[in-house]
Amino acid sequence: MNIPLIDLKAHHQALHAEITSAIQNILERTDFILGQDVAKFEEEFAAFCGTKYAVGVSSGVAALELSLLAFGIGPGDEVLVPAHTFTATAAAVSFTGAKPVFVDVDPVTWTLDVTKLEEAITPSTKAMIPVHLYGLPADMDPIRAIAKKHNLIIVEDACQGHGATYKGTRTGNLGDAAAFSFYPTKNLGACGDAGMVTTNDEKVAEAVRALRNCGQRVKNVHELPPFNHRMDSMQAAILRVKLPHLDDWLESRRSLAGLYNQLLADTPVVTPVEPHGYRHIYHLYVIRAQDRDGLQAMLKENGIGTAIHYPIPVHQQPFYMKNGQGQGPYPVAEKICSEILSLPMYPELTEEQVEVVASTITRVLVPTA
Ligand SMILES: *Cc1c(COP(=O)(O)O)cnc(C)c1O
Repeated sequence: MNIPLIDLKAHHQALHAEITSAIQNILERTDFILGQDVAKFEEEFAAFCGTKYAVGVSSGVAALELSLLAFGIGPGDEVLVPAHTFTATAAAVSFTGAKPVFVDVDPVTWTLDVTKLEEAITPSTKAMIPVHLYGLPADMDPIRAIAKKHNLIIVEDACQGHGATYKGTRTGNLGDAAAFSFYPTKNLGACGDAGMVTTNDEKVAEAVRALRNCGQRVKNVHELPPFNHRMDSMQAAILRVKLPHLDDWLESRRSLAGLYNQLLADTPVVTPVEPHGYRHIYHLYVIRAQDRDGLQAMLKENGIGTAIHYPIPVHQQPFYMKNGQGQGPYPVAEKICSEILSLPMYPELTEEQVEVVASTITRVLVPTA
C-alpha cells in the first residue's frame, strides 16, 4: 500500500462537478481578474474569520508584503520573525526593504518564543509576524501585550492556520492584519496561487486594495507602488466551492491527528502538542525523531510519503547568510530542523492508513513491540 504525504486528487474528487461549473461561469462572464467571485469570496472569508475586511491577493507572500506596506513598514525598519517558519515569512519583510530579525521558537509549541521577543526589540523595530506554524496558533496574549508595550504592529502569518482558534478567536482576527495563502496544498487551497489579507482596520484594507492593483486608489492614478498582486477570479470561484467544507475537513484532520497521537504514544517520537485553549488544525502533522533521516528512509521503503518542513532554518538560508542578516545561533530552531518529519495528513486519509503509518514507525523504533 502506498500512502502519500498528501492526495490532492482525492481531495478534489467529490467537488469536481461544482468546480467545473464555477469555472464555466467565469468563462461565460469573462471577469477573469478581481471579478464578482473575488468580491464574494472576500465577504465569505471575512465572515469565516470574523473580521470586518478581507482583501484577495495573488499569494500568501504577497498578502504578508502588502500588509506590512499598508502599515508603512519599509527601509530602516526591523520586523521580528520566528527562526523556524517557511522562508516566505522573512522574504515578505525583505521585499518591503525592512530587515527581518529572527527570534527563536518555543521548544514545546515550535511557534515564536515569547520569552525571547523583548530582547530582540530595538528602536527600529516596527512590527512582528507570529506564524501559526503547522496549524497551531502562536501564543497571542503575551505577543499582544509586548506589541502594546513597545507600540509594534502585529501581522499574523496565518498561511498554515485557516480556521485554527486561540481562546475561541479564529486566526486572521488575532492581530492588526493577517496573511493567508491558498497555495493548493494548504488547508484551504486553490487550483493555483492565491492569498488574502484580513483586518478590522478600514485604512489597511483600503491600502491593500490599492497596493494589489497598480497602486491605484482612483482609476488611472497610481499613487502607491504600482505592483500587480491581484487575485484571479477562477481561484476565488474554486475557493468559494471549497470554503463551506473547510470546517468538516479540519475536524477530519483533528481526528486523524488524535489517532496518530494515541498510536505513537508508546514510541520514542515526540508528537505535536495542543495547549489548552488552542484549536490546532494540523495543516501538517509533524513529529520529532532522533534519527529522523533513518526513519524517513525506512518509511519511504514502506511506501509512506513524508517531508521535512523545513530542513534548513530560515536564518541559515543562503540568502540571509550572505546579506548578513542570518546570525544565530537560534538553538531551538536549529535542533527542531534536524529532527522534524511530516507524516501523511489530509482530510481523505483513512484511519486504516494512519494505523499502517503508526505501526510501521512502531515496528522500527520499538523493536520489542
Ligand atoms: C505557504 C506559506 C507562505 C506563502 O504562501 P504562498 O501562497 O506560497 O506565497 C507564507 N508563510 C507560511 C508559513 C506558509 O506556509
